[in-house]
Amino acid sequence: MAQMFYDDDADLSVISDKKVAVIGYGSQGHAHALNLRDSGVDVRIGLAEGSKSRAKAEAEGLRVLSVADATKEADVVVILVPDQHQRTVYAEQIEPNLKSDAALMFAHGFNIRFDYIKPPAGVDVFMVAPKGPGHLVRREYANGRGVPVLLAVEKDESGNAWDLAKSYAKAIGGLRAGGIGTTFTEETETDLFGEQSVLCGGASQLVMYGFETLIEAGYQPEIAYFECLHELKLIVDLMIEGGIAKQRWSISDTAEYGDYVSGPRVISPEVKENMQAVLKDVQSGAFAQRFIDDQDAGAPEFKALREKGAQHPIEATGKELRKLMAWVKDDDSDYVEGSA
Ligand code: NAD
Ligand code: MG
Ligand code: MG
Ligand code: MG
Ligand code: MG
Ligand code: MG
Repeated sequence: MAQMFYDDDADLSVISDKKVAVIGYGSQGHAHALNLRDSGVDVRIGLAEGSKSRAKAEAEGLRVLSVADATKEADVVVILVPDQHQRTVYAEQIEPNLKSDAALMFAHGFNIRFDYIKPPAGVDVFMVAPKGPGHLVRREYANGRGVPVLLAVEKDESGNAWDLAKSYAKAIGGLRAGGIGTTFTEETETDLFGEQSVLCGGASQLVMYGFETLIEAGYQPEIAYFECLHELKLIVDLMIEGGIAKQRWSISDTAEYGDYVSGPRVISPEVKENMQAVLKDVQSGAFAQRFIDDQDAGAPEFKALREKGAQHPIEATGKELRKLMAWVKDDDSDYVEGSA
């Protein structure tokens, strides 16, 4: 059984006695900053000069500084810029300005696990990784609840890094739901594997193959969209509520029997071997290196793949069909249709 942490296991004063700099004000950054502030923590935001996030943070009454100045003031530096930019921001603006006994906090272990960031001696390194998108982290906190978090300590130079991690997790609302103890290695490798194999890569490819199979066989794209994409949410909601078992209980016996006989035919044992190969590339650092090398070259592969994805016919079909469904809301005001 994993090690679990709740509100009673953490002392809020550990983090509220410190000055915290949140670097980046995107999905996670805005949620951490606002939840910390509302828990009584002294927060400042570090952003690049021309950052579009500046106005948003200032509109919330937060103090916005340069990354360097925010770091100079801080006992805890929270690194919430995109993973591919963390190493440059760290090397150029954070490390040269870091207090010798500061702590670094991450929401994902990528740059520590793959050695893109190597913090100096004397600096604690911990992680509080919410298991949900930033907008949910903020909304749940505001509603008096929280999103579960993973907690890890990579370097405990002060001897207090676990108390600090628990206190931080409490301040963003994570321990209202519960925290699970892990390591940077486990969090990073399982996060990358899960998003590549099942949640993002696997699910998207499954939906696209299903849609293609139906339209290539002459069925209408609108019908294929409903059957292979739209209804997925209903199925996944049942899984979240009660596991695969509740999903099978809720669907018709016809659907349940089809699940048993055709599921393993579509997702055959070779798929598991493919997943094992994906996991190997995660563990060896090959995936990380491919991603970072491409980003450093201006992301030509990433941009081409994003463009190709946006051109898939399922997107045009969905755009029209979603107009029929008033309850299907895109409530992320930052999202632009066709971007990723
Ligand atoms: P994001 O893309 O939403 O936000 C990035 C922020 O960083 C923006 O405010 C941007 O202005 C700022 N930024 C970008 N480049 C910068 C630079 N050079 N200098 C200073 N600021 C810069 O990022 P995110 O999705 O919130 O991811 C942040 C971290 O949280 C990552 O480690 C990610 O893996 C982790 N994480 C994200 C989620 C999520 O829901 N998105 C969930 C769990 C963990
Ligand atoms: Mg994840
Ligand atoms: Mg991830
Ligand atoms: Mg059906
Ligand atoms: Mg049933
Ligand atoms: Mg994106």
